[in-house]
This record gives sequence, C-alpha cells and structure tokens, in this order.
Amino acid sequence: MISVEEALSYILKHFAPLEPEQVSLVDSLERVLTEDIVSDMNVPPFNNSAMDGYAVRAEDVVSATQEHPVPLRVVGNVAAGYVAKNSVEPGTAMRIMTGAPMPLGANAVVRFEETSEGAEVKGAGKNRQAVQILKSVNRGDNMRHAGEDIHAGEIVLPKGMTVRPAEIGVMASLGKKMVSVHRRPRVAILATGDELVAIDEPIAPGKIRNSNEYTNAAAVLRAGGIPIQLGIARDNIADLTAKIRAGLDADADLFLTSAGVSVGDYDMVKDVLNAEGEMHFWQVRMKPGKPLAFGVLRGKKDVPLLGLPGNPVSAMISFEVFARPAILTMLGKTKFTRPSVRAVLQEDVKNDAQRRNFIRVAVEHSGDGLIARSTGEQGSGILTSVSRANGLLTVPEDVTFVRKGEMVDVQMLDWPEW
Ligand code: AMP
Ligand code: MG
Repeated sequence: MISVEEALSYILKHFAPLEPEQVSLVDSLERVLTEDIVSDMNVPPFNNSAMDGYAVRAEDVVSATQEHPVPLRVVGNVAAGYVAKNSVEPGTAMRIMTGAPMPLGANAVVRFEETSEGAEVKGAGKNRQAVQILKSVNRGDNMRHAGEDIHAGEIVLPKGMTVRPAEIGVMASLGKKMVSVHRRPRVAILATGDELVAIDEPIAPGKIRNSNEYTNAAAVLRAGGIPIQLGIARDNIADLTAKIRAGLDADADLFLTSAGVSVGDYDMVKDVLNAEGEMHFWQVRMKPGKPLAFGVLRGKKDVPLLGLPGNPVSAMISFEVFARPAILTMLGKTKFTRPSVRAVLQEDVKNDAQRRNFIRVAVEHSGDGLIARSTGEQGSGILTSVSRANGLLTVPEDVTFVRKGEMVDVQMLDWPEW
C-alpha cells in the first residue's frame, strides 16, 4: 500500500496549467490570469469630488464656523461627467456633485450639510448666487485624487491570481474587455459496471442506478472543469475499449473512470487500461477509497486517467483527494488545501484500519465555538453520509482513537453561510 502523499505527488507530476485562452471579462470569474494586468491609466483619471457640496479654496474658509460663516460667491455648477468652464478664484466657490472633476483653483470640497444650502429642499440651490460656509476644511478634504486607487504603469493584478468580482471590476475600470486565463480542463467521465442502469431506466433485479457519473460530473464542474459524460461501459473488453476511445476522441485532458479497479473477477477496467496505456493499480492507505488506478492513456495525445473506486463514497473522497488537485493544477491554481476550522468532536471516533480515515462530519455553531458530529454510518456505500456532511475529519493512519470532546481540525468541503 502507498500513502496518500505518495499517490498524490506521483499523480500531480502529470499535470501542468493548461494553455491560455482569451475570454470575455465576466467569463474570467474564478479563472487564473496568465498575464499581469498593467494599468495604462490613473484610476480615478482626474481629481474629483467625493461629496455633493461646494468646491472651494481651503485657505478662503479657514475661519468658517456655525457662528461666523464665510460667504462665498457661487461661480457655477458642475455635475459628474462634465468639466467646469470657469475656475474657482479667491472668494468664490462652485457647486459640485460627487464624481465631478475638481474645477481649477479649488482644492477642497465642503459638503452641502456644512453650508447654508444644507437645510434647503433638494435641488433648490441650483441658481444660487452666494453661499455661507459653516465649517473650515483642509486641502484635499472630500476629494478623490487622480491615481489614488491605481497608478498608470502599475501591475494591478498579478499573473497567477484567481479572478473574483472585485478583480472583474478593476479590469473593467481599465477597459479590459477580454482577459487571458488558463483554459478549463475537459474531463471525460465513464462509469463502469454490468450492474448499472441509466438514470432514466427502471431498476431491474440485481441492478442499481449509476450515481457516480453524476456526482463526478458535478464535482468536476465545481472544481472548474468541463465534464464530458460518456455514460456507462459494461464489464467487457470490447465495450470498455470503445468507450475509452470515445473519451479520447472528445479531447479530454483528464479521464475519470469509476469502479472495476479492485480485485473482483469482473474488474476488467484494469486490463483495458493496461492495453490502452500505461497504468498503475494502487492500494492507497486511505479509508474509504483504497483501490485507485492512475496512468496515462495513449490517444492523439497522452491523457492521464484516474480510475476511481466504484463505491460512491470512496469515489467522492478519492475525487476530493486526487482529482480535484489535478483539475485545479490544470486551471493554474497552486493551492488545494481546503480551509479548516477547529471544532469540538461530539463522539468517539475509532480508526482500526491503519489507514488514513476520512470521517464525514457536520460542523455547526454551538455556544461560543464550533462542534463537529459524525454524519452517522460511515460505510463506503452510504452516499447520504456525504450529503449530510460539510467537512472531513482526517484521522491519521497511526491514530486509532479520537475521543469525544477533543478539539479537532476539520477541512471544510463547503463553506456554508452561517
Ligand atoms: P467495483 O469497484 O466495480 O467492485 O464496485 C464497487 C461498488 O461500487 C459496487 O457495489 C458497485 O455496484 C458500486 N458502483 C460501481 N459503479 C457505480 C456507479 N456508477 N454508481 C453507483 N455505484 C456504483
Ligand atoms: Mg464492478
């Protein structure tokens, strides 16, 4: 048996970030930049007002107070999107709206609330000839300075960064309509087994529905890949070979199979994989998910294949531990570790398998802290144990017992709003 780390590091050697593609700005969400985003302009591009008020010369209003207001002559109005025609000379002020460029001569803004206009009906000040300033301001007050957010020439977003809504907004303000990001991996998904019936077929004696195809497709999507669902291959050489070749024809970057990699009589996947490429069949020191295949299929190009176990929980955990990092690597991401929380374990957990045990837990708030409870029966076929969980408690190979009440680290599979 090999360790989880040995298996993962061997697998990840076969993956690298995929080539860049140009996508429209909003489609770059959650993707990784393949180039630095350098600004060719200042943001904001000009000094402008941060408030609705009066653009003034701070030196004109140093003595202004509620009791001793300073009167100024009003020389105009400037709204966002327009440039003032005249300038602010000593003893004058200009009405100004948020976002409007500062007029020449002005160096601060006094908010309407701190002028004699404050108490008036909205809009009534438009034709005003004079205003009383009720409070002094410092130079630069209530203004936004050219380049205070972004300087021309600056690297605003570095290559390798994952794009979120804030980055999309930053790129929009720089006029970037198209963005260069790593291509999303195409992931072929093949379920195998004579016992499987398709989702829309009736269950017959001895048969079960093919759920792995769908969990895998959803997990691929969630990780950022593009699932290619190939359906079910039967446990015979001809059908398996045909379906694997179909996946290669669909330009897969990664091939995921489920089941048939164990030691049963009809675990044909092993033979076919060996014939179609170079495969390793491992027993990984983990629970659930001991059997795992990994290798490379020979097609038009070499395509790495991960043969996940058939049991639905084993398949999901193996996906989480091995396939997700591979997909993230192809997307250009370099970190795979889920965020973890510290929580108080609510029951004893035994680990007598001498394997790394991934316990499905539900983490929730309780009092001042977090608690983690096992989601019940942890058998590798009990898919609802994953459905009830939001995290995984990893019990190391050499730890046989974790006591109720202990503080444990839980890796969060979901980060619920709470
Ligand atoms: P195997 O690795 O082929 O021995 O399969 C292990 C277990 O997983 C068996 O009980 C299978 O019936 C079950 N299984 C295999 N493939 C699927 C699938 N696509 N969906 C749900 N269960 C499956
Ligand atoms: Mg089988």
